[in-house]
Amino acid sequence: MEATNNKPAGESAAVNVDFIRDIVGADLRTGKNGTRVATRFPPEPNGYLHIGHAKSICLNFGIAREYKGTCNLRMDDSNPCKEEQEYVDSIKNDVRWLGFEWDGEFHASDYFEQMYKYAEDMIRQGKAYACNLTADQMRETRGNLTEPGRESPCRNRPVEESLDLFHRMRAGEFADGAYTLRAKIDMASPNINMRDPAMYRIRHTSHQRTGDTWCIYPMYDYCHCISDAIERITHSICTLEFEDHRPLYDWYLNQLEVPAHPQQVEFARLNITYTMLSKRKLLELVNTGYVNGWDDPRMPTMAGLRRRGYTPEAIRSFCARIGVAKANSTVKVDLLEFCLREDLNARSQRVMAVLNPLKVVIDNYPEGKVEDLVAQNNPEDPSAGTRTIPLSKVIYIERDDFMEAPPKKFFRLAPGAEVRLKHAYIIRCESVIKDEKSGQVLEVHCSYDPTTFSGGGAETRKVKGTLHWVSAAHAVDAEVRLYDHLFSKEDPEDVPEGQDWRASLNPNSLQVVKGAKLEPALAQAKPWTPLQFMRLGYFYVDPVDSKPGALVFNRTVTLRDTWAKVQKKEGES
Ligand code: ATP
Ligand code: MG
Repeated sequence: MEATNNKPAGESAAVNVDFIRDIVGADLRTGKNGTRVATRFPPEPNGYLHIGHAKSICLNFGIAREYKGTCNLRMDDSNPCKEEQEYVDSIKNDVRWLGFEWDGEFHASDYFEQMYKYAEDMIRQGKAYACNLTADQMRETRGNLTEPGRESPCRNRPVEESLDLFHRMRAGEFADGAYTLRAKIDMASPNINMRDPAMYRIRHTSHQRTGDTWCIYPMYDYCHCISDAIERITHSICTLEFEDHRPLYDWYLNQLEVPAHPQQVEFARLNITYTMLSKRKLLELVNTGYVNGWDDPRMPTMAGLRRRGYTPEAIRSFCARIGVAKANSTVKVDLLEFCLREDLNARSQRVMAVLNPLKVVIDNYPEGKVEDLVAQNNPEDPSAGTRTIPLSKVIYIERDDFMEAPPKKFFRLAPGAEVRLKHAYIIRCESVIKDEKSGQVLEVHCSYDPTTFSGGGAETRKVKGTLHWVSAAHAVDAEVRLYDHLFSKEDPEDVPEGQDWRASLNPNSLQVVKGAKLEPALAQAKPWTPLQFMRLGYFYVDPVDSKPGALVFNRTVTLRDTWAKVQKKEGES
């Protein structure tokens, strides 16, 4: 974990404390930006947002909220090759779903004209030049960590000539790659980013917003600092890999008459065990059909997590708990699941569902009799109301809850043993009917004790096991999808020589259970209501594939709390 604060989760947390908030607070006290705090969340619309982005969203929007500032949503759309409107729409939807609303909605492409003018200014000042080295030549002459780079022969091109070439680049006179516009900084700088970086490249590609207006596009570093400056961002918060780019960020802004000079602050990006947080790799999983789209419930995308049954509260709580630090680290996925369970425990409706049904006949229960048992929907929340559960002579229990020859401490059903049916009576196993050939148990016959009704005040006898069950005649069928981590390695990149992250994919990340039996109230189940299938986990109606009469449920997370165990172990060691 990045931060070792024991504050309560999410919204209940007091004011968040971290080094970025310290900087923002200090700047407010010294009046560095007057009384303004302005942040932005700047995704590139080249994929769906993942939970790593959630960390950045919670940070940027959170700071704006806490310091009564503003936070813009800016589509960082300077690379037309990979960007699509579908991604823009999904990003907006996901930010809102997570619970945040932006102050301004902008696109880097809104500033293309202004950026172009700034680039002309730089050429006129002798700070930029048109260069006709190929991409390969640029790489070869850049030098490396021990050797300085070599200056381009175009470096001292007269201003008028560079200006003319730059205009013609824009006018579409040249093919992709024929020219770049480069900043004239220092080919011997120890920071390779400062060795005459490219500012513009030629790309004859339609842009999802500007269409064919442009055939030159600004490079990330040039584009990002100017976008921040135009929006008068005070704190440009980004991930650590941009630390080495900060001198360039500042250099560009120092050359130009920009409305503001934002401060870039870097923090550690989120990594989670058993999880891949890279849009490029997630896109590959989508494109190869390894998963069923960006919203596959196994995906760490916001869309996938949402479809799986994650709540925005759980994700915000997770982001608050991991905190913000300046050193990269990996958070255990167990913490994410812990935050999820904590939230679902409070809001889930408790229901009964049997995934792998075994038929149980209660021999002494009157034929044709049905009792409507009243059950609380959520013992944690009386306002969630009650519902009725029918009990009849034939029920299903979980096949795992019966053993013919049980080991010691098996407190479930076995020949001669007694268990309680949740919300109902104590039953006792009297006999077993098996398939003669296979030996498989076909049905179990029990007796029930009518004096042991649950909550009836007559619970004279206690039994150790309580089983969930459903009435066979009333049960509704459903498909249930059980998920495991998408990767079977804690660090998916940790693979033997010659292999790559794909080798870490977990072949058993999805298990489909057909023919699950659910209590009848679930026939009306709709998405957006979290459910706890008693003793099995938290489940969620699949919002895409589930149809009335053909229900599909996703297991959001199991009940088992491995995080508590992890913490206990860490505390002991
Ligand atoms: P990816 O590598 O997944 O494509 P990215 O950094 O290229 O991610 P952007 O769209 O550029 O994705 O990211 C938008 C914002 O979200 C950036 O400020 C970026 O630093 C932040 N961000 C992206 N991934 C993470 C992460 N894993 N943890 C924290 N912040 C992240
Ligand atoms: Mg990026």
